[in-house]
Amino acid sequence: MTTFADLGLSQKVLSAVTDAGYTIPTPIQAGAIPPALQRRDILGIAQTGTGKTASFVLPMLTLLEKGRARARMPRTLILEPTRELAAQVAENFEKYGKNHKLNVALLIGGVSFDEQDRKLERGADVLICTPGRLLDHCERGKLLMTGVEVFVIDEADRMLDMGFIPDIERIAKMIPFTRQTLFFSATMPPEIQKLADQFLQNPERIEVAPPSSTAKTVTQRLVACHNKDYEKRSTLRDLIRAQDDLKNAIIFCNRKKDVADLFRSLERHGFSVGALHGDMDQRSRTTMLAGFKANAITLLVASDVAARGLDIPDVSHVFNFDVPIHAEDYVHRIGRTGRAGRSGAAFTLVTRSDTKFLDAIEKLIDQKIEWLDGDLSALPAPAESHDESRGKRGRDKGRERRGGHKSDTRSEYVKPVEEQQVVEAVKVEVVKAEPVAAERRTDKRRDQNPRNNRNNPSPANDDNRDRRRNRHHDHDDGPTPVGFGDDIPAFMLIVAAAKA
Ligand code: AMP
Repeated sequence: MTTFADLGLSQKVLSAVTDAGYTIPTPIQAGAIPPALQRRDILGIAQTGTGKTASFVLPMLTLLEKGRARARMPRTLILEPTRELAAQVAENFEKYGKNHKLNVALLIGGVSFDEQDRKLERGADVLICTPGRLLDHCERGKLLMTGVEVFVIDEADRMLDMGFIPDIERIAKMIPFTRQTLFFSATMPPEIQKLADQFLQNPERIEVAPPSSTAKTVTQRLVACHNKDYEKRSTLRDLIRAQDDLKNAIIFCNRKKDVADLFRSLERHGFSVGALHGDMDQRSRTTMLAGFKANAITLLVASDVAARGLDIPDVSHVFNFDVPIHAEDYVHRIGRTGRAGRSGAAFTLVTRSDTKFLDAIEKLIDQKIEWLDGDLSALPAPAESHDESRGKRGRDKGRERRGGHKSDTRSEYVKPVEEQQVVEAVKVEVVKAEPVAAERRTDKRRDQNPRNNRNNPSPANDDNRDRRRNRHHDHDDGPTPVGFGDDIPAFMLIVAAAKA
């Protein structure tokens, strides 16, 4: 059996790997490390969770032992599609490079340029960047790319999805042709193959799992449900509560707005929950992720920005609140669980309108996914109250708004306390008198202020929302507003003056 010692890595690297507790290289490591040390180009086809990061970090550390960095002339460059992924690669350099004295600069958006500039000035052995921020630095004249010896493009298919390919092409033109290029992608659609052909010279191709395969350790199930957000939220809550072995979970939504909505809904139902999506400021994203990694948060509602490459060991469950539109995203999402041989569970909520996306996923992974409780044809008719006539729903809505009791239909959405397993307690909302129209307008303006963006669950915004929630009855889990909806005329909201 191949060991790390057989791969040609330096003593310093081997000792750090031993300290990390790893003895046997994973297949991508065993395949990529020896040719990378021989300065060969690499085409690595591997999904996240396979040990892909160490497969380029370890040989880079060994190669970097010879030579020194010069001011503003980095020696190696790693491109990552997201800030989190870039930060994670930097952590890998810390872990495996603990016996080296290398300068690692992390250039990501959302944080100030100043400290990044100082690091570049000192001379960076390793530059880890998202493409946009790197180009910003280049345009500011702070960087010379002519000293780059090793160029790593990680998660190339994700870069393609995120529209980064033109940026990468620009960056590649700034780096000497004689460089070594290490190129990684989980899938190899034709566009990525074209890019690989353009960037790589006689590469060593290492493919560790068939493209787009899913880990065998993950139990996958489909859950049929109706195509209404409140039905889906209710189904999701039941599903979460039914999982005896749930330690922590990532819940994926297709849209950022839905991440924010679902986050608030779960929070209101008493779940320990955080949110992660691309519109959040960097500090909130980092805080959320750290809280989730430290088990301070049990559920993380996320957009696909979190789907790829985030190394959160031991996620027990993945829930797809939405069926992903791109079939490859399914593979990446469920790759968050069942990592490094552990077992995991992945549930996908499927509505009638999702069948074509589901077909594409099953075709891609070349397997039929089992239904948990019968397929869409077994789905019972939507609950009576959800089928209420639009007019009645509108009237109920109006009554709630005017400070009346919550309609009885609400009880369908909140489970009795004793049924809750993950949740300690359901927060019972006290419905207070509705604010007058002027206050509602103020809230509307606050919502329009980007600092109070509903999609940005930063602590400050949470505070604002909590304050609003205490003043309003929040209808998030009820049927979609109809009738007057949010545009209820102001005169209908004026509270009658109390008699002295
Ligand atoms: P990655 O695919 O790079 O995100 O790595 C997935 C996980 O596997 C990370 O938690 C790594 O720390 C871990 N890992 C990397 N290499 C090995 C190895 N040789 N043996 C066991 N676990 C590893």
